[in-house]
Amino acid sequence: MPYRLSNVLLDSMPEVERKKLLRHLKPMTLSVKTSLYEPDEQPKYIHFLTSGIASIVVTMEDGSTTEVGTVGREGAPQGTHLLGPVPVATRCFMQVAGTGLRMDYRAFEQMFQEDEAIRRPLLAYAQYQTVLLGLVAGCNRLHPVEARLARWLVMVQDRTGDTVLKLTQEFLGQMMGSQRTTVSAVAGELQQRGLIEYVRGQVRVVNRTGLEKAACECYSSTRKILSALYASAGQALFDEKA
Ligand SMILES: [Zn+2]
Repeated sequence: MPYRLSNVLLDSMPEVERKKLLRHLKPMTLSVKTSLYEPDEQPKYIHFLTSGIASIVVTMEDGSTTEVGTVGREGAPQGTHLLGPVPVATRCFMQVAGTGLRMDYRAFEQMFQEDEAIRRPLLAYAQYQTVLLGLVAGCNRLHPVEARLARWLVMVQDRTGDTVLKLTQEFLGQMMGSQRTTVSAVAGELQQRGLIEYVRGQVRVVNRTGLEKAACECYSSTRKILSALYASAGQALFDEKA
């Protein structure tokens, strides 16, 4: 199976540690909806994503769901579980199909505790997630759906590098914490403005610059922190001028 080893956390480790981990890591294809972890459970594996996007979501008692975090090749969704004893109440699954490298969670946990060079990038990632969560919480509360959808789409494109994004209406509704009909109307507006083309579960970014302008200020603030994480591995984001 062809895959490209390119996970920001692994890439920012010294070569000795990276090689040590690679002996245990197995390349995986991760199809849409693959579960990476379930609420309040210790994960079986840790995944270092190398492509695609995973969503971290929270589900309320009435079954309504919204996204509270996004993970691409900059992260390992189960990194949160390593930090301490608090049960992780969210669930995480693949939103855009991709690839990853995975190993046994407990075996990795031991390495994380024993080896500072392995621990450091995971802690940097945890800091990034915490800062991101604060920004997203503010955005979800204060910014209109259209600006949030535009932000979300350019953010997804930053991670996949593709102009076509395979996203169902159901997923988009969940991401925005809005009704499917609202998301449809808002996507329709972005389409009318010539920024995207939206055809049954597929979004094509037509005017990237325009879509960035339609996004709320949270796009540049979240991009700045993601960019800092990439920089720690000596890498640049999609479309980033060196
Ligand atoms: Zn915002």
